[in-house]
Amino acid sequence: MALCVDLLKINTSNPTHGEGAAAEYVAAALSEVGLSCEWFEPEPRRTSIVARLPGADPALAPLLVHAHLDVVPAVAEDWSVDPFGGLVKDGYVWGRGAVDMKGMVAAMVAVARSYHAEGSRPRRDIVMAFFADEEAGGRLGAEHVIRTRPDLFAGCEDAIGEVGGFSHRISPDRRCYLVSTAEKGALWARLDAEGRAGHGSMINDDNAVSAVCHAVSRIAEHQFATDVTPTVRMFLDRVGALLGVPGSDTDDVLGRLGPLAKMIRASTQDTCNPTSITGGYKANVVPSRASATVDGRFLPGHEEAFARDLHRLAGDGVSVETIFRGPAVEAPWDVPLVHHMQQALQREDPDAVIVPYMSTAFTDAKWISRLGIRCYGFSPLLLPDDLDFTALFHGVDERVPLSALKFSVAVLRNLFDEY
Ligand SMILES: [Zn+2]
Repeated sequence: MALCVDLLKINTSNPTHGEGAAAEYVAAALSEVGLSCEWFEPEPRRTSIVARLPGADPALAPLLVHAHLDVVPAVAEDWSVDPFGGLVKDGYVWGRGAVDMKGMVAAMVAVARSYHAEGSRPRRDIVMAFFADEEAGGRLGAEHVIRTRPDLFAGCEDAIGEVGGFSHRISPDRRCYLVSTAEKGALWARLDAEGRAGHGSMINDDNAVSAVCHAVSRIAEHQFATDVTPTVRMFLDRVGALLGVPGSDTDDVLGRLGPLAKMIRASTQDTCNPTSITGGYKANVVPSRASATVDGRFLPGHEEAFARDLHRLAGDGVSVETIFRGPAVEAPWDVPLVHHMQQALQREDPDAVIVPYMSTAFTDAKWISRLGIRCYGFSPLLLPDDLDFTALFHGVDERVPLSALKFSVAVLRNLFDEY
């Protein structure tokens, strides 16, 4: 698909490149079919755009459909192809952002263009947002747009975006499509210790490096309790039923899920991974300070308790400073939109069964949910059974099957036609 190939050739690595060129490309493709965009550029070339595809029935609440234009950087030497070459090979489009998430950007544009080509309209207004800066937390993208122009989203009750709607073969005759209805919260923190600097040959019972290391090892070894929230309960029950095993047996269900299991397991508890540690400058000098960073992810309802756990584990004498904090979100399953997602998928794939899951990554849903909008991860993709999809996110040789892109366009079109 030409749109996706073109977008993959535009390097929008965050934060080095900016989204300006990709936003211009998308805006031009939309303007050819009579759609104009609102522009946001809080910093040079850190561009977000929002357009509105008019629906047939203005009385219906508009649906917000969002994607991000930025990508994480790619180290070209690690790849077997040029990550920004837009290569089409072996039935795949290869490049950084193929699944995360320029494929979805391309599909959204293609659907808008298809309505124009046919002279038809979606059932309701579709607000299409293409955000900057998602990969760095969204401060220059969704957060900025939503804070400065909430009026663009007035009346929206539901939103679809990443991460969800991808297929996972569960049995010979059933394929699950995982729709994210919840997202863990994030708390990134910096741990700092100060101690007594001195010569490395002396006895030092106030060593900042030791203090930080103890804090980091307490955090790394801590066993967070399992807590199955409503979304995960529903996931286990539904998938368990499809597999013919009791959903209450978490280990049995997860044991049959292949690479997907690691993400689902992480959605049954809070997690906190130490991610960096620094301090000192010479082998025989005890430095006066040392620090570390940790990446904490908490379940819906756990935010305060998790922050308390983190402070307690860090211990006395080690300060905890929040670098980034984003709330956990959870949306209801029993809404008309979800029913229409199932129908839109089944029209293209009769084996499709949708199941809710909790994303362990954070997305722009964090910002959008501030407007009271229910957020669903639904960027539909029918994937080959043997593809480890979750490993492609931010991974080497990121790629998306051409057939999956076509599928994505067809499913979104079905959904917009009927919902
Ligand atoms: Zn993404």
